[in-house]
Amino acid sequence: MADLAISALLSSRGYEGEGAERAREQLYREGLTRPGKKRIAKAKLEAVDRALGAAFVRHCPEPVCHPPTAEAREPVLVTAEHCETCRGSDNRRAVERMLAAMRRAGWSKLLVAGGSPTTRVELERLCGGRVELRFVTDDSSPNRRTVAPLVDWSDIAVIWTSTQISHKATTMVRGPKVVKAPRRGIAALADAVAERCDVTD
Ligand SMILES: [Zn+2]
Repeated sequence: MADLAISALLSSRGYEGEGAERAREQLYREGLTRPGKKRIAKAKLEAVDRALGAAFVRHCPEPVCHPPTAEAREPVLVTAEHCETCRGSDNRRAVERMLAAMRRAGWSKLLVAGGSPTTRVELERLCGGRVELRFVTDDSSPNRRTVAPLVDWSDIAVIWTSTQISHKATTMVRGPKVVKAPRRGIAALADAVAERCDVTD
């Protein structure tokens, strides 16, 4: 039957060094392998992933990716691409930082002026319903009557400058809640929001 090296299998899941030792011990406890064995049957792969997934939460060194203290699984340090929070993505990491900063500030409503249809969808996906998101775009022919209530509704409003948004539209997004994201890209937007949250904090 086809098999593979246990060390390679663990490494492909991000378990290296001490993390690999702990993963191995977990596999012993689950009876999926035993000390001294170097290879494991491919048929056991699913059971291995299930056992490790239930025992460990994999995180990268970024503070924002550290598992919450309420997490029942044991934390294991892995390289960023295997991190359960950011999966090595700068955008994901920045959005997690932004969400944490908004939580600390007690804010849950984010208004975004601009962005492309693709980046807006991606931002929504990364936020995963953990904040309420609304957008001001040129497609909705924004005017003072429609934009002012959105700014009122928001806890923070961010203008995504240098994206697809007209100057006319951005001038309507005004007031003390407004912050500007100076660069395009989701990480730039998230960083700008997080910075403002922390200032207010
Ligand atoms: Zn991470």
